Amino acid sequence: MKLIRCPGCGSEVSDEVATCPGCGGPLTPIPESVGYTRKGGKWSGIGFALVVLGILIGVLSNYALGSLVALAGVAVFAAGRLR
Ligand SMILES: [Zn+2]
Repeated sequence: MKLIRCPGCGSEVSDEVATCPGCGGPLTPIPESVGYTRKGGKWSGIGFALVVLGILIGVLSNYALGSLVALAGVAVFAAGRLR
């Protein structure tokens, strides 16, 4: 938990509440880190890492294995996005 500043009244409130207890206005949390992890960001990250790994394997050693890993990464990435 951390404190954010209410855009309505300027008082510091917890970022875990949806509305400000002071003025009752809606609170929009800063989306840079919070929004990403909530939106299946973990799986998207894993999928992206797999794609990069697959490309690296394909370029450096085994093309067939590399494209297999990259395809799995795309699947994981897409699955993470859909949720
Ligand atoms: Zn407020």
